[in-house]
Amino acid sequence: MKILVVNSGSSSLKVSVFDLAGQAVETFKATYERFENGACAYRLSAGGTRESGQAPLADIAAALAALPAVLERHGAGRPEAIGHRLVHGGERFRETIVLDAGTVAAIETLTPLAPLHNPANLLGVRVAQQVWPDIPQVAVFDTAFHATNPAWATTYAVPKAWREAGFRRYGFHGTSHRQVAFRAAAEIGQPLAGLKIVTLHLGNGASACAVSNGVSVDTSMGLTPLEGLVMGTRGGDVDPGLFGFLSRQLGLDVAEVERQLYHESGLKALAGSSDMRAVEAKAAEGDADARLALEVFAYRARKYVGAYAAAMGGLDLLVFTGGIGENSASMRRRICEGLEFMDLSLDHDRNDSVDLAEHPAPQIQSFGSQVRVVVTAAAEEEMIARETAALLAPRHEAPPVSIPVAVSARHVHLSRAAVDALFGPGYQLTPALPLRQPGQWSSQERVTIEGPKGRLERVAILGPERARTQVEISRTDCFTVGIDAPVRESGQLDGTPSVTLVGPAGRFETDGLIVAARHIHTNPQDAARLGLTDGTMVDVRIGDEERGLVFGKTLIRVSPKFVTEMHIDTDEANAADIRVNGEGSIVPGLTAAIAG
Ligand code: ADP
Repeated sequence: MKILVVNSGSSSLKVSVFDLAGQAVETFKATYERFENGACAYRLSAGGTRESGQAPLADIAAALAALPAVLERHGAGRPEAIGHRLVHGGERFRETIVLDAGTVAAIETLTPLAPLHNPANLLGVRVAQQVWPDIPQVAVFDTAFHATNPAWATTYAVPKAWREAGFRRYGFHGTSHRQVAFRAAAEIGQPLAGLKIVTLHLGNGASACAVSNGVSVDTSMGLTPLEGLVMGTRGGDVDPGLFGFLSRQLGLDVAEVERQLYHESGLKALAGSSDMRAVEAKAAEGDADARLALEVFAYRARKYVGAYAAAMGGLDLLVFTGGIGENSASMRRRICEGLEFMDLSLDHDRNDSVDLAEHPAPQIQSFGSQVRVVVTAAAEEEMIARETAALLAPRHEAPPVSIPVAVSARHVHLSRAAVDALFGPGYQLTPALPLRQPGQWSSQERVTIEGPKGRLERVAILGPERARTQVEISRTDCFTVGIDAPVRESGQLDGTPSVTLVGPAGRFETDGLIVAARHIHTNPQDAARLGLTDGTMVDVRIGDEERGLVFGKTLIRVSPKFVTEMHIDTDEANAADIRVNGEGSIVPGLTAAIAG
């Protein structure tokens, strides 16, 4: 599907075309800015060619109206759908929507919440509707991902009348925070459920987000994109007492204070440039103002990391993105400095050698750091294209495909040391039943799992032996044995709790106790047919009309050795009321869109 993404801002127009057949490919990209005297500056790239210069386009509307001819000339063709970036969705728009007369009118009523941005975004919508009246158009909101923030995070402690007028925290950059959290979780091979993530989007605009179990629970921007981190020209958190103070001391009125908070603050105010590269260069030459600016920038970001770890009760993963987050190794280092107390430390070699063209989401924490640190590129336009396609998918795509589902009862994989201890030195397990995955079997022998509260008897052993013992039980089993096991992908056993196995020849104490994360095994041929990619996640519908469920965030594992099959545990199967085997179908939807 060919999607045009439109980001119509207050002073620039950015457009991209994505071809979403298989992997997303950006086939066209253009920026139009500095509109004056009936002309503007433009840059575009299409199919390996780059072009830039002046164009006789008086304003954003004219640039958008001229786009069909430009797309034609560069072989980008006609879009099948258009995705618009909308900054503010207010309380009403909590997800991506189709734009029609009703929704456009409703977005218009939100103008007071984002007077600079929403009218500019809506201008792009109106012109695009005139230019492409027969093409479906969709709005993706910067605020939507944060709709899950709890009331204690979104409420300012101010008079009721203010709050009733809409004064609350909303948050922005949601498309970016969501995408990089998903991408980083996929990189470390763990499902979002159970992960506590802080994402730092550090660009000209900058914000932090606390993502717990895949949902945003707090973010640093508030009613407007002024709150929170230090930015290029915005100062982030300031004392609201500044209005009275500046009025009395400098005679500034509200509009002027607001203008300077948006356009004359941040790095620009502290170091004379809003561009981090310039500030870092000045600091390297010894400029004291620039050095202080870097310290203020890093300190603020570090404080938010700590605050969000407290908000979530811990931190598993820190993600850097945005122009600064992706490119400035020294700013990543400054921000992480002093966070060793929460078991977060960087590997400086890895941090210095990040190359996103080579590896799109490298991990840069040091060996032994409990908190993982990932750097990855913000791909907001691509996300808007994917969300647009996902929303329109039922009208455009083939019916869902079916996947066999197997229920894994509790079982263990044993190492040689475990077999020796449980059954006697040199003992060989006896294969009894072959499993569907080639070369794997369940053995005649059984073991007992023992925890502080209870025992699970006659637990199956799956062969062949593995390098490391792994014990897979359900959440219900966790209550029986009295040990809280984490949800993990097979093989990700670092830091897992210990448990005792009991066999006829003795006892064996081992770590490796997990609740297995649901996953789909598939091979490259089936993956291509089903449109699945290794390491990404999908939603799968399982079970019948009455008790069926959609299981979100199901991890895809592709290997030539695998037969296509989804594995869920007994708790998940019981919840969806399916017995030993079932059928699942992939639901085209958000998880798939994001994880891609
Ligand atoms: P926007 O928020 O406008 O999308 P970007 O995400 O492109 O902005 O980020 C722009 C910021 O990233 C600028 O401050 C720029 O100086 C900074 N940046 C880009 N490359 C580097 C680099 N190599 N080192 C330090 N900062 C960089």
